Amino acid sequence: MRNGQDKVYPTRPHPLTSRHMQDSPLLAGNIVEKLQSAARKAAENAYAPYSRFRVGAALLFEDGFIATGCNVENMSYGLTICAERTALFSAIAQRGSGRKIVAIAVTNVNNSPSPPCGACRQVLSEFVAPDALISFLGADGLVQRPFAEIFPFAFHLEPQ
Ligand code: ZN
Repeated sequence: MRNGQDKVYPTRPHPLTSRHMQDSPLLAGNIVEKLQSAARKAAENAYAPYSRFRVGAALLFEDGFIATGCNVENMSYGLTICAERTALFSAIAQRGSGRKIVAIAVTNVNNSPSPPCGACRQVLSEFVAPDALISFLGADGLVQRPFAEIFPFAFHLEPQ
């Protein structure tokens, strides 16, 4: 394990996540490790010549499909897109939007904390299962939480 990433924060018991962790082959075993590894690999492809901060994300869907993405910067800065949304939009472009995300991993090659930004949390919230698990590098190592815990009170509008 690199640089404190083996430190795992204790996750408060979350009934749905706990059930998934026990019963679902998707989230069994070292799935967090696998997703973190896929995210790290994606981060290697990041286009980040301005910040040099290369981020990767991996999304596990309920049918086992894993989508990855990296940040893609733009010289205008404002048009930059994060790894999490790159992964999500790529998955939707490839397979449509019918499947829920059950786990998310975010990491970077800079070994710096990189929790998802607020924009990504809002966008992801529309596609995550209620009990989706997210892992990302925090200040003291890998943080693992139910998604709902890191993004309560999401903006919500009923589709027409
Ligand atoms: Zn973001």
